[in-house]
Amino acid sequence: MKILVSNDDGYRAPGIRALHAALSTLGDVTLVAPDRNRSGASNSLTLDVPLRVFEATEPNVYFVQGTPTDCVHLAVSGYFDFEHDMVVSGVNDGPNLGDDVLYSGTVAAAIEGRFLGLPAIAVSLCTSPGSGRHFDTGAEVARRLVARLLAQRLDRPLILNVNVPDLPWGQIRGFRSTRLGSRHPSERIIPARDPHGRAVYWVGPAGPQQDAGPGTDFEAVSEGYVSVTPLQIDLTRHTALPAMKTWLEGIND
Ligand code: MN
Repeated sequence: MKILVSNDDGYRAPGIRALHAALSTLGDVTLVAPDRNRSGASNSLTLDVPLRVFEATEPNVYFVQGTPTDCVHLAVSGYFDFEHDMVVSGVNDGPNLGDDVLYSGTVAAAIEGRFLGLPAIAVSLCTSPGSGRHFDTGAEVARRLVARLLAQRLDRPLILNVNVPDLPWGQIRGFRSTRLGSRHPSERIIPARDPHGRAVYWVGPAGPQQDAGPGTDFEAVSEGYVSVTPLQIDLTRHTALPAMKTWLEGIND
C-alpha cells in the first residue's frame, strides 16, 4: 500500500516525522509537505506563481514552496508516476476541533485527497502551551486507524477528522465517534507596531469552546478519548431549502 503523508506545520515538524515512522510499518510512505509552517492555510491553492518541489536528503521526502493543498494536489495529480492509496495528514501541533476545520491546513490536505477518491485522515494533537507534545501518541492513533481501514473498508468518500489528547499512549482511554462542536468568535485582533512605527495587526487566537456538549469532539478529547469525526464536503443546509424557495418567490417580478 502506498500512503501519502502531508501536513501544514512543514516537512521538518516533529508531528509529521512521527507519523512517517509509524505508517512506514504498514506501507510505502511518501512525504510531501510545505517547506515551512502554513497553519491556517485552509484549502488554498497557489495559482499566481509556479510550484517548486524539492527533494529532501532522506528518500521519499519532498517539500514544496506552497500550501498543504498544493502539496497533496501535486502528489496525486501527476508529480509521481504511481498512484497513492490513501492520504494521511498531521500530526498537527494543536487541535482542529469544531470550527477549526474550516481554517485548518491539516484538514485541507486530507480534503484534497478526498477529491481524488482516496480515503483521507487528518490527525491533530491537542497541544497547548507547556503541554507534553506526545506526537508519538498521535502517530500511533493514525497507525491504528489505517490498519483498521485496511482490515475493514468504510464507504467512500471518506474523510476522518481525528483529534488526540496530548497524553502518553498508555493514558488514552479509547476512541469515540463524534460530531463537530463549535467555538465562540475568536479573540480580538492584537495591534502592534512594526520597527518603523507603523500599525500592524496579529490575528488573535481561536475562541473558547461554545458547543462542547454530549457527542462533540471537544467533549471526547476533554475526557481523554481520541475523537474521530467523519466529515462531508456538502455545506448545503438542506433543511433550509424549502424556506429559501419560498423566500425567493416573486423576487424577479
Ligand atoms: Mn498546523
